[in-house]
Amino acid sequence: MNTKIVKIDPAHPRMEDIREAGRIIREGGLVAFPTETVYGLGGNALDVTASQRIYAAKGRPSDNPLIVHIADMASLLPLVTEIPEAARKLASACWPGPLTMIFHKSSIVPLETTGGLDSVAVRFPSHPIACALIREGGGYVAAPSANTSGRPSPTMAEHVIEDLKGKIEMIVDGGSVGIGLESTIVDFTEKIPTILRPGYINEQMLRDILGEVRMDKGLIAEDSRIHPKAPGMKYRHYAPKGSLLIVEGQTDRVAAKIEEMAREKTAAGYTVGIIGTDESVGRYSSGIIKSIGTRSDEESIGRHLYSVLREFDDCGAAYIFSESFDTPKMGQAIMNRLLKAAGHQVIRV
Ligand code: AMP
Ligand code: MG
Repeated sequence: MNTKIVKIDPAHPRMEDIREAGRIIREGGLVAFPTETVYGLGGNALDVTASQRIYAAKGRPSDNPLIVHIADMASLLPLVTEIPEAARKLASACWPGPLTMIFHKSSIVPLETTGGLDSVAVRFPSHPIACALIREGGGYVAAPSANTSGRPSPTMAEHVIEDLKGKIEMIVDGGSVGIGLESTIVDFTEKIPTILRPGYINEQMLRDILGEVRMDKGLIAEDSRIHPKAPGMKYRHYAPKGSLLIVEGQTDRVAAKIEEMAREKTAAGYTVGIIGTDESVGRYSSGIIKSIGTRSDEESIGRHLYSVLREFDDCGAAYIFSESFDTPKMGQAIMNRLLKAAGHQVIRV
């Protein structure tokens, strides 16, 4: 398939381009587009065949549900059986934005879109291209991250091109995304709102708005028999091709341990990568050293995580050693993704 790649300026989107992308979605085709979190692979969420095509293009397991994206609050009601008061409150505080909410689904949402579940995940994104495209595409756009299943999520159009060119009708290149980590997911089918996936909107922000909030057991359990409720969280997501190890502890000791391991693997003939920050990269001298961002701006760390992992794939790193980024606001989301990418390989020094 020939994939059309269209550059769109998010500040001044050309309506002609948006209309073309919207028409593709309305006719059952697939369009990848930027959102404020990561790039999404969009198709009509109410069309069984379009949903099935999304799974096929990504190589995504069919039990891993899709998030339905809407572009106004009024579009929520037809998708769900009821909107709990707490969810209304959260929507008015955080939508449009990087927040997904889970509800009991109505009959218009096909089971093919929800991975067979009787609940549906809904998000109202804030990115101007995403909103315009959802409207032009019919109002209900299923849009999982626009990567091949298992690879790091795409934060720029180049990543989408790598994974999906030739498999979908169009890729909208709207530049780099702002947040770089997938949306926070909060489940409202439980009595107490439950965080199924941490994101930019963190636990404290949710508590301030909702009062009581729980963290899904599967997210915090050390016991691997307890599965997370969000089906996607059980897969080894976000994985780089090399073996990733996280080193935790006091700054000097972390740097010394990483340098020691990098030196050892380099001497053994392997390509080695190191993930540090602007503050620490000067401490390293072995292997390929990359800064993920600065500790004085934790959002920069979230924004660059996936692109750094992809860069290490491109340079064929067999071993990657990373510092830990347990920062105050986004630390939970960043470490959730980094730990998954590392298959939970962590050492403490
Ligand atoms: P992605 O769009 O690729 O960021 O992934 C969407 C994720 O949202 C899935 O992998 C699930 O973990 C989660 N999700 C979507 N729908 C539901 C649902 N109905 N119940 C629980 N989790 C869901
Ligand atoms: Mg994904």
